[in-house]
Amino acid sequence: AKTPVNVTVTGAAGQIGYALLFRIASGAMLGPDTPVRLRLLEIPQGVKAAEGTAMELADCAFPLLAGIDIHDDPRAGFDGANVALLVGARPRGPGMERADLLEANGGIFKPQGEAINAVAADDVKVLVVGNPANTNALIAASNAPDVPKDRFTAMTRLDHNRALSQLSARADVPVSAIRRVTIWGNHSASQYPDIFHADVAGRPGAELAADESWLLEDFVPTVAKRGAAIIAARGASSAASAASGAIDHVRDWVLGTPAGDWTSAGIWSDGSYGVPEGLVSSFPVTSAGDGWQIVQGLEHGELSRARIDASVAELVEERDAVRALGLI
Ligand code: NDP
Repeated sequence: AKTPVNVTVTGAAGQIGYALLFRIASGAMLGPDTPVRLRLLEIPQGVKAAEGTAMELADCAFPLLAGIDIHDDPRAGFDGANVALLVGARPRGPGMERADLLEANGGIFKPQGEAINAVAADDVKVLVVGNPANTNALIAASNAPDVPKDRFTAMTRLDHNRALSQLSARADVPVSAIRRVTIWGNHSASQYPDIFHADVAGRPGAELAADESWLLEDFVPTVAKRGAAIIAARGASSAASAASGAIDHVRDWVLGTPAGDWTSAGIWSDGSYGVPEGLVSSFPVTSAGDGWQIVQGLEHGELSRARIDASVAELVEERDAVRALGLI
């Protein structure tokens, strides 16, 4: 039998955690032959609720679930972690400025980066879901000097999946017939969902993008503001779809992306496409199961270039703000 993979989930008692843990334990993330040991990390106030979730996980009698433990100390929670999903974060409160938000999250992601550096497994792979995800990933990576930077990633897969869904509705084709969509930049309202290189059931995405009023007034803002639309409709933020995006991200990272396609992930920039090195930005990426590779050689028209630059400029501002706070 295979050795269980240790998966640490922070914010395990939250909404996303509740939608995520059962799918991990069922094998949806690491495959049907890989047993998992779940390590739930919460703040002390969240531990009791996490215990309740752990009881339900036990009651599912998942054949792949090799164990669950619960912690409120990052040094214990990340011990031996092969995969770490950093979901718990500090939400923006009323009257909170961006600097306050970055500082509050620095107080979470700096010690978590340090703990990952000290106690996680050598092959640890980190996905940050908690917002502001790209900059939280930058903080954690910067505080884990012994872990290769390419192991710290931020989730833009939900944005990617939202783009697929909108495009599928527009072109009236199944999502499975759409390939090579990209989310560029920050997981925020400035993100740029790019369909110029897409293949939409055999039709070039550029053909659909030629309808600029649809592209810029409908498609791009619908994808970028979908989270707010869901809060308005559901009375709560998206949780199951965020969890599903996280599952897709880790699954494709570990098991590989399909031939002829790519996906989107926030990764440590190597300077590709003019994105300054050392920002965690979303790119078109592939994996053969051994790490993310940025898809090279895509050409951008003026419209795309300006949108990518604007989102990257926001990442630069966030980086400068956390640098000024001494977090990186
Ligand atoms: P959720 O589980 O709904 O969300 C958690 C984080 O994911 C938030 O930062 C949220 O950002 C972010 N997120 C990213 N993408 C999405 C998306 N598409 N839709 C919604 N959220 C998204 O939050 P809860 O408040 O239910 O739970 C958070 C849990 O984390 C609590 O149990 C808390 O105790 C715990 N926590 C744990 C910490 C730790 O382990 N050290 C630290 C801080 C909190 P946004 O706010 O922008 O929606």
